[in-house]
Amino acid sequence: MQTKNIKAFGTEAAEAPLQTLDIQRRAVLAHDVEIEILYCGICHSDLHSARNEWHGTIYPIVPGHEIVGRVTKVGDHVKHFKVGDLAGVGCMVDSCRECEHCKNDLEQFCDQGSILTFNSPDAHLGGQTFGGYSQSIVVDENYVLHISDKLDLAGVAPLLCAGITTYSPLKHWNVGPGQKVGIVGIGGLGHMGIKLAKAMGAHVVVFTTSLSKTEDAKRLGADEVVLSTDPEQMAKHAKSLNFILDCVSAEHNIDAYLNLLKVDGTLTLVGAPMEPLPVTSFSLILGRRSFAGSAIGGIAETQEMLDFCAEHNITADIELIGVDEVNNAYERLLKGDIKYRFVIDMASLK
Ligand code: NAP
Ligand code: ZN
Ligand code: ZN
Repeated sequence: MQTKNIKAFGTEAAEAPLQTLDIQRRAVLAHDVEIEILYCGICHSDLHSARNEWHGTIYPIVPGHEIVGRVTKVGDHVKHFKVGDLAGVGCMVDSCRECEHCKNDLEQFCDQGSILTFNSPDAHLGGQTFGGYSQSIVVDENYVLHISDKLDLAGVAPLLCAGITTYSPLKHWNVGPGQKVGIVGIGGLGHMGIKLAKAMGAHVVVFTTSLSKTEDAKRLGADEVVLSTDPEQMAKHAKSLNFILDCVSAEHNIDAYLNLLKVDGTLTLVGAPMEPLPVTSFSLILGRRSFAGSAIGGIAETQEMLDFCAEHNITADIELIGVDEVNNAYERLLKGDIKYRFVIDMASLK
């Protein structure tokens, strides 16, 4: 198979900093789109994976699954993209396309395991897939998204993971007008959750451990902000929320949030800390409450979310950085020191 050498930014080991690497992309096949990457967001999952916190990383790894760029080449059978179009790639680049989940637009739950944008087996080149901290990517058009030219492109990149990961559960659990909805943790996911829940018409209560983010949370769309380390502020919301979206990247107290749910309320986890999160039986039993989880969203729903954001003028609040700042950005993520998504300007990768 023909390949092309390009520059990427990744790491050879969990303890090593990210650095410039040479990788290969396949030449476009009949159904492929080649995208010059303009911007790539930094998701906390990139950090979990680069440092092997989920214990499945195969090195070298090139993270990045919030990709926005411009189409530079299309295969002979590509129907929906042409050279010059804006295009996006999120967390998945392929799946089996035949199982019940793939057929029902839930490729993220593919029975064979969806092929993730990085650190999944690469059926074409062997080895592992390499993500968006790179100059270009080649993806089957069925897993490529259309991007509106109305919005700021760097601010759109985080929608490809943070946007869909919060949009999908908010839709699935029917968040809308008349509901009081909690968003826990104001990072990349959480700040998108605030904007989307507000746009869907809910009354949004934000829970943060960072005093410095409380003012901003209102600007992002929160109706109320709670400093979660203050038991008095937490107690004021006891048994009052219909739905809570938990976007926290580290170990934390789930019971404290379950007890804020009304009868029949649901707490959905999208944050993915490795440590088990203990739950007290009575936090669920007394109130017929549900504790659930959600993973990104299917390709069709990702397009729906992008169109919803274009219609409602929603993008991420970002800090645009060069590749030389990625390692420092990871350190800041670990401290919750992010307002609210780092995005890499890929022109800085030489
Ligand atoms: P992020 O930008 O680092 O935000 C995480 C936020 O969690 C922080 O800003 C902080 O918010 C809060 N937090 C951090 N440490 C905490 C602690 N020890 N106790 C309480 N709160 C803490 O991360 P992200 O990119 O939004 O990702 C969040 C999580 O979702 C990660 O685990 C990521 O892997 C996961 N994820 C899951 C999916 C999925 O499909 N389910 C998709 C993408 C990402 P405050 O400062 O406001 O407290
Ligand atoms: Zn992500
Ligand atoms: Zn499948």
